[in-house]
Amino acid sequence: MNNPIIIAIDGYSSSGKSTISRYLASEIGYRYIDSGAMYRAVTLYALRAGLIDAAGNINVEALTAALPSIHIDFKVNPGGKQSTMLNGEDVEAEIRRLEVAEHVSPVAAIPAVRHALVARQQAMGAEKGIVMDGRDIGTTVFPHAEMKVFITAAPEERARRRMAELEAKGEHATYEEVLHNVNERDHIDRTRAESPLRQAPDAVLLDNTHMAFEEQNQFMLDLFHKITRG
Ligand code: C5P
Repeated sequence: MNNPIIIAIDGYSSSGKSTISRYLASEIGYRYIDSGAMYRAVTLYALRAGLIDAAGNINVEALTAALPSIHIDFKVNPGGKQSTMLNGEDVEAEIRRLEVAEHVSPVAAIPAVRHALVARQQAMGAEKGIVMDGRDIGTTVFPHAEMKVFITAAPEERARRRMAELEAKGEHATYEEVLHNVNERDHIDRTRAESPLRQAPDAVLLDNTHMAFEEQNQFMLDLFHKITRG
């Protein structure tokens, strides 16, 4: 790989970031890291350890103390699909559940959680040749990334996509519940004090509300070639 670069993809929940990022990474032979999965894995750990009560209050002190013993990595399965591993256990299906989605944004707003995960993400990008998606990749994790894209779509369209995903997994939720979760997460992500979700000034905006998947892939590949071929 000549002169590998860092590709930072940020944007709103259920904007299709991971699908686009994963595809781009496989097309260009880069490693793909889903940073949202890391926040989801920490949230799952906290739920299982009883560190989040029924009212949604988080025991921040206990979670902060537990961070060094929360190990997260990614396993590539035969066929290329990745699984998120939490202390050696494949939690890929569990972290995608609505229960985790409902608690992840407050967990991700805790400064100690962000510091720990940002440091791990930066270490993963040390050798470049990586596509990472999330909320603060182009602003905080890799402010010097050579390629930055900010993805968005109308909230109603994002809620519809999320509904379809949940239904495909056999999880039942109403459209209103899903739209509420999408809006709620956007709000917490945008307004938190620690690295809030925002478009980096040098990121390219991609609004995919009315775009087909192939069109978005082409957009990403064209941008990548433009940047790497100068
Ligand atoms: O990308 P995904 O929707 O799976 O991310 C789940 C949650 O993790 C987001 O709603 C956000 O609160 C948090 N997150 C974050 N910073 C990132 C990636 C995700 O705060 N880089």
